[in-house]
Amino acid sequence: MTSPSGIIDLRSDTITVPTPAMREAMARAEVGDDVFGDDPTVKRLEERTAELLGKEAAVFVPSGTMGNQIAIRAHTEPGDEILVEANAHIYYYEAGAPAALSGVMCRCLPGDRGVFTAAALEAALRPPDQHFPRSRLVCLENTHNRGGGKVWPLEELQSVAATARHHELRLHLDGARLWNAAVASGIPEREYAALFDSVNVCFSKGLGAPIGSAVVGTREFIARCRRFRKMLGGAMRQVGIIAAGALYALDHHRDRLAEDHANARRLAEGLAALPGVELRPGEVETNIVLFRVRRLKAADLAAQLEPRGVRVLALGPDRIRAVTHLNVSAADIEHALAAMAPLLR
Ligand SMILES: *Cc1c(COP(=O)(O)O)cnc(C)c1O
Repeated sequence: MTSPSGIIDLRSDTITVPTPAMREAMARAEVGDDVFGDDPTVKRLEERTAELLGKEAAVFVPSGTMGNQIAIRAHTEPGDEILVEANAHIYYYEAGAPAALSGVMCRCLPGDRGVFTAAALEAALRPPDQHFPRSRLVCLENTHNRGGGKVWPLEELQSVAATARHHELRLHLDGARLWNAAVASGIPEREYAALFDSVNVCFSKGLGAPIGSAVVGTREFIARCRRFRKMLGGAMRQVGIIAAGALYALDHHRDRLAEDHANARRLAEGLAALPGVELRPGEVETNIVLFRVRRLKAADLAAQLEPRGVRVLALGPDRIRAVTHLNVSAADIEHALAAMAPLLR
């Protein structure tokens, strides 16, 4: 469905607006004070999310950043080291929160579009010694945002997880787009989640709900997360109104992600055929299309597309990101390509 604004907004899958049916579900939601545990809609969402991911419990949070950060806080002690891929959202886009909120150091591992090897992890581990920070937690991201929506191959995940377990490290998955990974690979979310102690999932990206994420894990771990959520001011009251949007999205918007992936592929193929574009269509596995432009600056392309009713995100001097989502139709992709072609040829 095209955006109600008529603009083809490919900057992010966070820009979707709730559908009329989702708004209806939100308006009708049964609510209560969730800090007292009285909101039945939040309870349903947390139970449903935990069940989908095969974990004991879940906690609803206002944003993915808060979900990741309370999980890091709950897994670590100040002075610990967490191991993340160099382009991870946790490291790159969360305002230095691991240092500020958990007092942990980030050790960055080199990756290929967000995917690193068990050998890279092994090489970065610190032996127990009073001089060293304690290697404590490994964080992975699936799909990988800055990696262009890359899906972690399951065998690679298994091998990294086995290495982490061997060294008694904990494992957290930033699964903001785990729904996309599951649809693209045909591997259920819970099969990925089984390798991790905790998983963060977002309802406001591809699923198209306006607000919210959840962290899942053991009952004990989630109780600890609830305490840190409270500490950060993320415990909310009659929040069933927004949880209802997330529940609606889980029921109605997961399977349709395949449409977003098909639209992204079509966009990638169209762009790759233009001489001014550098893009490998084979690398587009989900809903994110990253490409480089040769004839003009990325910021200039974005600016020139704006009056043509198309929005993209300039990520660097020559790098552009275009993301497909609930408010982009197959016809919108053809329009976007038609708008871009004269500028990139
Ligand atoms: C969007 C995103 C998040 C969370 O973002 P919020 O804007 O805080 O909800 C976390 N991880 C990844 C990989 C993301 O893409």
